[in-house]
Amino acid sequence: MTGTFLGMPAFPQATSAQATFPQAAAEAVQDERLRANLRHATHTIRDKRARAVAELDDWAELRAAGKAIKDHTLRHLDRYLVQLEEAVTAAGGIVHWAADAEEANRIVADLVRATGETEVVKVKSMATQEIGLNEALAAEGITAYETDLAELIVQLGDDRPSHILVPAIHRNRAEIREIFAERMAAWGRPAPEGLTDSPAELAEAARLHLREKFLRARVAVSGANFMVAETGTLVVVESEGNGRMCLTLPRTLISVVGIEKVVPTWQDLEVFLQLLPRSSTAERMNPYTSLWTGTTEGDGPSAFHLVLLDNGRTAALADQVGRQALRCIRCSACLNVCPVYERAGGHAYGSVYPGPIGAILTPQLRGTTSPLDASLPYASSLCGACYQVCPVAIDIPEVLVHLRERVAEQGGHPLERAAIAAAGYVLDHPAALAAAERLAGRTRALHPRRLPGPGRAWTDTRDLPEVPAAPFRDWWRRNRS
Ligand code: SF4
Repeated sequence: MTGTFLGMPAFPQATSAQATFPQAAAEAVQDERLRANLRHATHTIRDKRARAVAELDDWAELRAAGKAIKDHTLRHLDRYLVQLEEAVTAAGGIVHWAADAEEANRIVADLVRATGETEVVKVKSMATQEIGLNEALAAEGITAYETDLAELIVQLGDDRPSHILVPAIHRNRAEIREIFAERMAAWGRPAPEGLTDSPAELAEAARLHLREKFLRARVAVSGANFMVAETGTLVVVESEGNGRMCLTLPRTLISVVGIEKVVPTWQDLEVFLQLLPRSSTAERMNPYTSLWTGTTEGDGPSAFHLVLLDNGRTAALADQVGRQALRCIRCSACLNVCPVYERAGGHAYGSVYPGPIGAILTPQLRGTTSPLDASLPYASSLCGACYQVCPVAIDIPEVLVHLRERVAEQGGHPLERAAIAAAGYVLDHPAALAAAERLAGRTRALHPRRLPGPGRAWTDTRDLPEVPAAPFRDWWRRNRS
């Protein structure tokens, strides 16, 4: 018991570098500016999303199709991944398989070193953040430059992403101006003199800073939103066009993609290209949808490497309840409606995947042995708003409860475990339950107002319900039999 959530097992005190969710959230909710930035941004995006989704009469059918396609693909993942590998290879690409973060980082570092380059440009990729690629490359003397505008803000600010779609959602315009003015020069072209916080000026400063990098880079690293097995085609959707610069200008392109991102056919892709933009940016279609298949002589990168990343996904796939998290298309709709995320912000989740999807995906990818990861399934009120908006119908509350069960089984206060075991016995034996109810009624005057031991924190802010003088079953016998 942490003093915050009933049922959450106690763990050794977490270090400040890896506080549990309740510890990090308790600190984050004190930050008024963060709360204001988050409230404004999440409410704006969620309202726009609702309007964009309401435009389609067949949204429910699209959602069901998205769920069915993902479930089918996950059930036959082995077959589709091999098909994808064959198609990518036939189109001139090279496929690498990475079981974990360390292997993926080593593959990418070796590939970059083989080109003789010491710099790479990156198009936004959650998978590479998940494995800590930038840090691994830095250890090898290779500098990775983020080129997505929000990722650039995060990198220049020596910060961490706090939202899937808008990684710098916790920053407002004045803060971004400050970061650009103070930090751009250390990373390349400095910000223009007299930079203000007008969106047009900030965007121009980023454009000038990044353009220099696009024109110089010989190697790019990307992720992908989808991979089409039948042709070996990779797909990136984005809003700024910076991704397309990364995907087309350098000589070598290395894409690091989770194995769950494969879809069987182009017809399947069509469904997700309708679901994703409306759910994420509330647009009817993405401004930039880039697709590439292997290499083409005289057009785009001459070398293409695809690193297929497992890193805990196979283990998640083996879990009959938890595997639905692998349907996620990273739209971020669940974050924007979550009352917990809105107040705590993304950093409290201690992972690249914040919000409701982070609360179910991270503990499956990383396991639940650390205090932080074990606390994540409790980072929810179970209100169900995330499930309502999820375009692939992931029942996030169901997975949260499932993971809580897993956490409770591996730990817990001895008193709490004993109480739950006793409750289980009594509820399973009607005679024992009747006797316990009568005893509770007769001793009601002696009942404490607050729970003792590990339950005390729960009753700090709640009243224990009154126990009736006589149980309902006795009343029933007297009045109805
Ligand atoms: S869980 Fe659903 S709503 Fe949340 S990011 Fe993934 S696809 Fe979007």
